[in-house]
Amino acid sequence: MLVKVDLHNHSCLSPCGDDDLTPALLAVEAMEQGIEILALSDHNCARNLPAFDQACQLCSIMGLFGIEVTTVEEVHVLTLFEKLKDAMEFGKFIEFLLPPIKNDIRLFGNQLVVNLEGEVLERVERLLITTSGISFGEVVEEALSRDALVIPAHIDRYANSVLANLGFLPDLPYSALEAIRLPVQAETYHKTILTASDAHSLAQVGRRSCFLELEEISFEGLKAGLCRGLVSYKS
Ligand SMILES: [Zn+2]
Ligand SMILES: [Zn+2]
Repeated sequence: MLVKVDLHNHSCLSPCGDDDLTPALLAVEAMEQGIEILALSDHNCARNLPAFDQACQLCSIMGLFGIEVTTVEEVHVLTLFEKLKDAMEFGKFIEFLLPPIKNDIRLFGNQLVVNLEGEVLERVERLLITTSGISFGEVVEEALSRDALVIPAHIDRYANSVLANLGFLPDLPYSALEAIRLPVQAETYHKTILTASDAHSLAQVGRRSCFLELEEISFEGLKAGLCRGLVSYKS
């Protein structure tokens, strides 16, 4: 079956994300757009994933529990987990590696942890969009060893991307790659290249997505589909 997937989105926990982009509204908007597999991947933090889990269950869509990690080279990498518990553990590990810089709300915006209803449970004090102390290669290895999907983010972007910051794509066992526009003019080792919304506001949900041919809507089904390649995309 042809399945619409969108594996890169933010919530109000990311300082650059709108305060009204709660995990629940993200899931509802995705459901209305026919997205059947949806990831929430806030910057270097997993704390809005429990609300996202509840929302995806209510919307009957498959949620992937993600963290967009900033490596020491300032490259963004999507790490997407099947299980909430595994993502929460990895999120704690990444947060621990962040420098103790306080978020300046006026400069960067709020970092809100919310529940399913969108009520604020916590404001994260440590700035979440700095670089963690882990290298690109280490993130790939560590996340793969924890059974996550590992997808270098927006590889064709002028900043915070593997091609811009490292100058090339190292030949590592990525699950897939993400780009803003296809095709990408670089050596990509025949990996599947996805498009995804990278939404930071409700209006951006679904602005980019793609279709995969899957035998079933499950983590294993998605993994197999990523190996087979993209069927079509919206960019
Ligand atoms: Zn990014
Ligand atoms: Zn992002």
